[in-house]
Amino acid sequence: MNKSSVYGLTLNQLIAWLGERGHKKFRAAQVWDWLYRKRVTDFAEMTDVHPECVRLLSEHFAISVLIEHLRQESADGTIKFLFKLTDGNLIETVLMRHKFGLSVCVTTQVGCNIGCSFCASGLLAKSRDLSAGEIVGQIMKVQLHLDQAGRGEKVSHIVVMGIGEPFDNFVNMTDFINVVKDHKGLAIGARHITVSTSGLAGKIIEFADSDLNVNLAISLHAPNDELRTRIMKINRAIPLNQLMQAIDYYLEKTKRRITLEYILLKDVNDRTEHALELAELVGHRRPLANVNLIPYNPVDEHSQYQRSEQESITAFYDTLKKQGVSCSVRLEHGTDIDAACGQLRSKQIKQSIG
Ligand code: SF4
Repeated sequence: MNKSSVYGLTLNQLIAWLGERGHKKFRAAQVWDWLYRKRVTDFAEMTDVHPECVRLLSEHFAISVLIEHLRQESADGTIKFLFKLTDGNLIETVLMRHKFGLSVCVTTQVGCNIGCSFCASGLLAKSRDLSAGEIVGQIMKVQLHLDQAGRGEKVSHIVVMGIGEPFDNFVNMTDFINVVKDHKGLAIGARHITVSTSGLAGKIIEFADSDLNVNLAISLHAPNDELRTRIMKINRAIPLNQLMQAIDYYLEKTKRRITLEYILLKDVNDRTEHALELAELVGHRRPLANVNLIPYNPVDEHSQYQRSEQESITAFYDTLKKQGVSCSVRLEHGTDIDAACGQLRSKQIKQSIG
């Protein structure tokens, strides 16, 4: 049977696991340091950890359970990794370089059931959730890649925006965040971590009530129910008024800013009337909301959608600004490789099938 990854344990879980087997707390701290500070890839390298503890760990766990299957590097420094899981499934992880640091976009599920009509990832239905160890493993694989390059670079930001709906894998996502945030390990600041959801209202409330304290982004993509249901079928189950109520709860509870993601699709949701409607929807939330406009990366399978003209993007942005809505246009990364989320993975799967 395949062993699960030790990366899936939070520090408290590791302390408890070793404690149940008679090992004191400091042993867990030693192991944690070897995993996340010294970043060894074999338990046998944990030279100052008691041999019995090393034996126990290697008997029950693997360190990483991901194998690098493919890597695409863009001229702008973006790297797309395709990792193979122990069950043969492929997942995609992206490293992006920004002025403010290095961010990694992680995947939380194998496929996705939300079925947004513009998305390459959603073309393949969810076959399973990723374990916390498989999500942490993506960050560690990227960090080890940076370590090997020898420039002392460190992953500084994480966006949970890859394949899957993170709130549909809530417990594993929560463990993942607690592992990467831990100040004795990777120590990635809570303000440097963003989770993006398609709008699972109940989970937004649970997230607001949690002590994760990381950033939240909502995939909004349309300013009214009719259009949003057309683009995102999740809107049928959770319409905008329910979503906005959950957002209000989150804002009230956390007092933290929120990002509203808006993918611009030519002649679908990119007209001035849509920008005006969006400004109205943002309404009283203006001080705590930022709209992130995302120029669409076309994918072959969704030929009904095209990228908005540059004039439309500028006009949309200007309209929101004039309405007092804080907004930005997302900088693009890796346009010379398979830039759309999930594109590399779906291409590979198609090639292997076909
Ligand atoms: S955009 Fe996100 S939530 Fe929607 S189908 Fe794609 S991966 Fe799933």
